[in-house]
Amino acid sequence: MEPRGTKRGAGKIEAAEPQNKLPRPAPSLPTDPALYSGSFPFYRRPSQLGCFSLDAQRQYHGDARALRYYSPPPTNGQGPNFDLRDGYPDRYQPRDEEVREHLDHLLRWLLEHRGQLEGGPGWLAGAIVTWRGHLTKLLTTPYERQEGWQLAASRFQGTLYLSEVETLAAQAQRLARPPLLRELMYMGYKFEQYMCADKPGGSPDPSGEVNTNVAFCSVLRSRLGNHPLLFSGEVDCTDLQAPSSQPPTCYVELKTSKEMHSPGQWRSFYRHKLLKWWAQSFLLGVPNVVAGFRNPEGFICSLKTFPTMQMFEHVRNDRDGWNPSVCMNFCAAFLSFAQNTVVQDDPRLVHLFSWEPGRAVTVSVHQDAPYAFLPTWYVDAMTQDLPLPPKTPSPKD
Ligand code: GDP
Ligand code: MG
Repeated sequence: MEPRGTKRGAGKIEAAEPQNKLPRPAPSLPTDPALYSGSFPFYRRPSQLGCFSLDAQRQYHGDARALRYYSPPPTNGQGPNFDLRDGYPDRYQPRDEEVREHLDHLLRWLLEHRGQLEGGPGWLAGAIVTWRGHLTKLLTTPYERQEGWQLAASRFQGTLYLSEVETLAAQAQRLARPPLLRELMYMGYKFEQYMCADKPGGSPDPSGEVNTNVAFCSVLRSRLGNHPLLFSGEVDCTDLQAPSSQPPTCYVELKTSKEMHSPGQWRSFYRHKLLKWWAQSFLLGVPNVVAGFRNPEGFICSLKTFPTMQMFEHVRNDRDGWNPSVCMNFCAAFLSFAQNTVVQDDPRLVHLFSWEPGRAVTVSVHQDAPYAFLPTWYVDAMTQDLPLPPKTPSPKD
């Protein structure tokens, strides 16, 4: 395969055969922001290919039944007064985090729609398939100082699949999660319940349960540089009043954050939290993030909309801020690195990319358990080369 590297940070891969018999250094990819500060790379406007829903039992449905509708409180002088601790823990049904879902739900969608993919024959074979959340972690890597990551990669029928592996540190943190952090996680979901209706034109019902098994996921096509992408991300809600009703531009991301009082608190918010919010929403093409600010008692008393495309303005003149070009250039460099590293087409072979803050991305190679993540039901169905269902003409064709 042709190297797909951008010039910067393409890894310490030898360009040609070594002149001598010295062992070639293990390839690695540096993550220093200074290495990725070129111009903003090409990123295709994400277009939605489809969607799916996960129900209260985490069962897959190939439709939008879990999509919710943006329903902010009336702006009648007073601000909101949402008690985010209401219902905790008695009306909380958290998803079982021990269940490793890998890419399974996305693969089910892909299996059921592989015959109708746009982009021409062979598009999927040249694409990268992953979750939006994995790409978010790549975008923020040059600025991340706390949490490392591991991404498992397998090539199958040309396509490169990327699936996160929980690091030992992340697992340890999750198992030892302090009670206050558990409640804080609940509060984020509770905010969504105060802001969303289950039916178009309906009203939020904060008396119900918060069940984090339920999810609406959008499946999108995009391209970063020369890397075609097919990825899926969870979407909080759609705004029927949005200027464009075309997904993903009608989608709204909901977030909570601590109330801020000093300029120093705002600056820190812009440097750290807004980077994560930007990366997540920019990738999927979500135009607005609506933030609820909570007071120390856990009540949301104010709301603020942050347009995704204006987030960078808050750090543009900050020496310690983040730069979207760095995020996207690093992501493109990682995808090139992965494409050039994972050469063999084998769904049971895994290249594990590992990163810890302050270090370079490294690679190790594994076969089958425990790292292989493409399920046999997927590999078998894709291999049987079943006669593909004919492409149904869409109204737009
Ligand atoms: P996000 O951007 O981190 O929210 O993740 P995505 O939007 O890419 O979500 C991909 C899938 O992972 C969806 O089915 C989500 O419900 C699920 N998901 C989201 N966050 C988490 C998490 O923290 N842990 C696990 N195991 N799954 C998650
Ligand atoms: Mg959210």
